[in-house]
Amino acid sequence: MTERKEMTASPNEYPTLSLETLLALTAKGFFVFPVHGITEGRCTCGDLHPKDNSAGKHPVTKNGMDDATQDPDVISVWHSTFPNCSWAVNLKLSGLMVFDIDPRNGGDTSWDSFEAWLTEPLGQSWAALTGAQEVEGRSMRGMHLYYRAPEGIQLRGTLGTDSPGIDIKHNGYVLLPGSRHMSGVCYEWLVDRSPFAIEPLELNPQVVEIVSSATSGSPSEGIPLDDMQLYCDPITTYGITALEGEVEAVLSSREGSRNSTLFNSGLKIGSLISGGEIPFEEGLTALVDAALRIGLTEEEAVNTLIRRNGGGAIQLGAATPRGPKFETKGYLSVGDLPSSAVASPVPGGPAHLNIVDWESAFADESEELWLVPGLICDERSHAIYADAGLGKSLVLLEICAALASGKSALGLPPIEPMTVLYFDHENTVKGDVIPRLKNMGYEAKDIGNLVYSSFPEMDPLDTAKGGRQLVEIIERVKPRLVIIDTVSRTISGDENSNSTWLEFYSHAGKALKSRGIAYLRIDHTGKNADAGMRGGSAKKGDVDIVWNLTGKSDDVKFALSCEKSRVPLPSKKLELLRYSSPTLRHELRDRSKDIDWAELLARNERFTKALDLIRADESKQGELKGQKNVWARVSREAKKAGIAFGLFAVAHRIIKAGIPDECSEPMESDLED
Ligand SMILES: [Zn+2]
Repeated sequence: MTERKEMTASPNEYPTLSLETLLALTAKGFFVFPVHGITEGRCTCGDLHPKDNSAGKHPVTKNGMDDATQDPDVISVWHSTFPNCSWAVNLKLSGLMVFDIDPRNGGDTSWDSFEAWLTEPLGQSWAALTGAQEVEGRSMRGMHLYYRAPEGIQLRGTLGTDSPGIDIKHNGYVLLPGSRHMSGVCYEWLVDRSPFAIEPLELNPQVVEIVSSATSGSPSEGIPLDDMQLYCDPITTYGITALEGEVEAVLSSREGSRNSTLFNSGLKIGSLISGGEIPFEEGLTALVDAALRIGLTEEEAVNTLIRRNGGGAIQLGAATPRGPKFETKGYLSVGDLPSSAVASPVPGGPAHLNIVDWESAFADESEELWLVPGLICDERSHAIYADAGLGKSLVLLEICAALASGKSALGLPPIEPMTVLYFDHENTVKGDVIPRLKNMGYEAKDIGNLVYSSFPEMDPLDTAKGGRQLVEIIERVKPRLVIIDTVSRTISGDENSNSTWLEFYSHAGKALKSRGIAYLRIDHTGKNADAGMRGGSAKKGDVDIVWNLTGKSDDVKFALSCEKSRVPLPSKKLELLRYSSPTLRHELRDRSKDIDWAELLARNERFTKALDLIRADESKQGELKGQKNVWARVSREAKKAGIAFGLFAVAHRIIKAGIPDECSEPMESDLED
């Protein structure tokens, strides 16, 4: 938008809109009507408008914008009756919308960031200069950007609080170029972007999504700012190198692409921040410093990188954690490189080069694998909360017993047995757990993979000591899923405090996440049910998926609604039916009927197939080799079975981590590799 910044206030030498011009505009689809004009610095209605800024902006006729018309006779009569009037366009009637950019309120900066953020550019449509404003000692013009609005669309009034100075107009009207503004200048078309020079463009789908009021108001799936603060571990060697590279990229960016370069660097650094390589503050500061050095303002830089609505580049990047600890997402560790590429990994040296294998990375469809389809996602963190007495523990016990024994969980087809670790601070084994398991039809021999820790004596998980104890246990047990029942009994800090959950994440959550272990925290609803789970929003920050279970304690039907998810969910509303005979069990249903169960289950089948392929290869080779070596050998068969690299990589890592299947016990030697 540099062209506007160079422009200074024009002298007040414009004639009022000619009838000819008005009729030419109606031929282009404009519905027009007269508004009071400005003569000798005053509104033609005679009012000084001391309390509002409607001088030279309010309609002349009784019905105002509803009188807007394309009828040449009517327009001609108005034109001669109100010689000093200005003219306006009824936007909705004309099928138009306008971005109204006000430089006084930071609209320029907001707009530049918004444009840089878009992956589908808006394109050059009609554009007009509006009033002249004094901004930091310079005279600057506001701007109206006109676009065709899809029919029936409902638009928001602004781009949001994070994009100040931009109004979205659609239900109302704007003054037409040729009208006079109180600042003395006239609204004027940009010469090469007027209706007489070019055709207007329709809003592209990406922008429609953002400005449409049907959407939540967030233009993104980025990580909320509060959650970003959780990433505060010291920078790693890998992080330092990556951050230096991106700072260099920003410093060498060309004029005109500075904001988009900054945006792209923000995406990359964001994913490394959530990948545990760079602390949030340090990543943000380094990029902002670089941006200042190439002439962007601090406001511009910060607005590109972080936004309250989650749409900042760093937040968007953070939604996809990357780095050495996330090797399944298309990154390979040193162990997977052909030996020619790495002389010999130096003991104590950098453990991971994190070289991207392009072919695999591109083939990676990043499928989410579900432990319980649509409800509990592999490698992710979950919180579930409900009122006391609803049977949260009961539901989770069924899930855990089923996953551990390879039986059907919640009425879904069984998947391969896995090790589940259950920390229970709530239920007694003799009084609660065993009777429930018996009612579900389990015997002791079925649930050897369910490692049940009853009233564990551990330090709180929001402390370093508790974190170390947890790591010791998970290194020994090697679970794929950990349940914490209930989380409020495992912390020492105030559960309403963000710092408690920051500590929890840093000592316990991250240890689980970096090992690819899914976990689920159970919690009670607070005293005030409307306030959500006890401790409120603070404790939702560090988990990926939050479920709320509601219903009546004597009921058979319960609702599960998702309050937050960083994972594409098949459905945010699930229903749980409780049966008491012939065995105690639950059945999961999709309330919105959106879930493609067949595809979800087929994916689990492909995963089982991937495990089989890798194990077959392992027994043929005598040992489990690096991920890339195995993929090279099994890829033909894997592709035939529809297994994408992403799924294969998860399967490989699970076997490598020594997580046992039904016929083999984990061995100490599985730990090393
Ligand atoms: Zn007036």
